[in-house]
Amino acid sequence: MTADCKECGACCASFRVDFHPSCGEVRGGLVPEGFYEELTPSLARMRGTDDARPRCRALNGRIGQAVSCRIYEERPDPCREFEAGSPACLRARRRHALDH
Ligand code: SF4
Ligand code: SF4
Repeated sequence: MTADCKECGACCASFRVDFHPSCGEVRGGLVPEGFYEELTPSLARMRGTDDARPRCRALNGRIGQAVSCRIYEERPDPCREFEAGSPACLRARRRHALDH
């Protein structure tokens, strides 16, 4: 997370966060057990990101104020690849009524 992201967190409460189960702790990967669920043999998802009002279970804090990722060093690839300032970032911020 950049300095800006530490005052935002909108993307962690907007999108499904999916990855391959091999990236989860249960299968020898990094993402800690309990923060995700395996849906199929080829699909795992961060808990909370598919809720009607999505919010990743690993997100701490208040969106738009001060946030942190509880598993930052072990977060899954989609989180590592997500770019601040990208169209998806701006969509997430708009969804939470945050100006960029
Ligand atoms: S929505 Fe954009 S600015 Fe906000 S935390 Fe995610 S990447 Fe950072
Ligand atoms: S794992 Fe961390 S960075 Fe990824 S969506 Fe959840 S809170 Fe955000």
